[in-house]
Amino acid sequence: MITTDVENYPGFAKGIEGPDLMMQFRQQAERFGTEFLEEWINTVELQERPFTLHTDNKVIKAETLIIASGASAKWLGIPGEAKTPHGFGGNGVSACATCDGPLPAFRNKRLVVVGGGDTAMEEATFLTRYASRVYVVHRRDKLRASKIMQEKAFRNEKIEFIWNASVTEILGTPEHGVTGVRIKNPDDGEHFTLDCEGVFIAIGHKPNTDLFKGQIDMDSVGYLKTNGHSTATNIPGVFACGDVQDSVYRQAVTAAGTGCMSAIDAERFLDHLPVEMPSGEGVTMEGEHITPDHQLIITATGEIIPNEPAPE
Ligand code: NDP
Repeated sequence: MITTDVENYPGFAKGIEGPDLMMQFRQQAERFGTEFLEEWINTVELQERPFTLHTDNKVIKAETLIIASGASAKWLGIPGEAKTPHGFGGNGVSACATCDGPLPAFRNKRLVVVGGGDTAMEEATFLTRYASRVYVVHRRDKLRASKIMQEKAFRNEKIEFIWNASVTEILGTPEHGVTGVRIKNPDDGEHFTLDCEGVFIAIGHKPNTDLFKGQIDMDSVGYLKTNGHSTATNIPGVFACGDVQDSVYRQAVTAAGTGCMSAIDAERFLDHLPVEMPSGEGVTMEGEHITPDHQLIITATGEIIPNEPAPE
């Protein structure tokens, strides 16, 4: 959890600190009997049910599994970037404009966005609502972002591009937070300082899915594939919710929403009801498949029967 002030979660009119919100989630779940195990999962076996999860000193068996392992923002790994008190993370440095951009600390300030992809264009455009000026600092002279996102950013008068530029250090003081960035031109090695009051790192995210490689279908970046109509993965009984399967919205409230969907999907599965898979088929715990058009049932033994009530 790197977000400190959460201003966009419904129900908290005055905002809430991220760790307090998480504690409230936990206490609420405990009130309904949820048992929390604080364990690092080393390996998973998902070929057959019950699924098996291995920790350092436990073997956990589960009839269903909901994966909510999230995605981590990528960082530059430069001085000044770490979370306070080691750097200015949470004190002027962020990896989420939607979460932190509207905070008073960034209003009418000069902000730097690092990156050249769609995330950087989206964050820069969003931040112009609050900032006095937004500098997009990119390490090449061409953007990776889609044409439409680039053009929207180019048209925005508050955005200025600084090309062929690598941010090598974030400058500031504990009292005032960020005061500037050191920038290097990778071609000639020249350094200069750009004054600013906030830095948004927008160089991509890495979904936390290494554990599931080779077992669950993922996209080219590593996000788990679900079909949008349910949170089912390609393995019947394994569901995925939150940022681990969502590269677009990435908000606490959308993650909580898909978490609720996963819980309902898992309950349906445990109640022996069909759950819609990414292929469009419905699959039950017994291994029955319902075709995407809902016309046929293929039983676990391969028998094909119509999916309609027997005539009276
Ligand atoms: P991308 O991988 O597309 O872009 C990352 C950017 O960060 C690149 O420009 C890259 O530079 C730069 N970068 C990476 N590492 C470093 C580094 N160490 N130092 C400096 N710069 C670095 O990630 P995005 O998060 O932008 O997008 C991920 C996916 O999500 C894409 O498919 C995108 O289209 C999608 N997306 C769509 C949105 C929408 O449609 N509204 C919004 C946001 C994302 P370089 O170009 O040199 O490699």
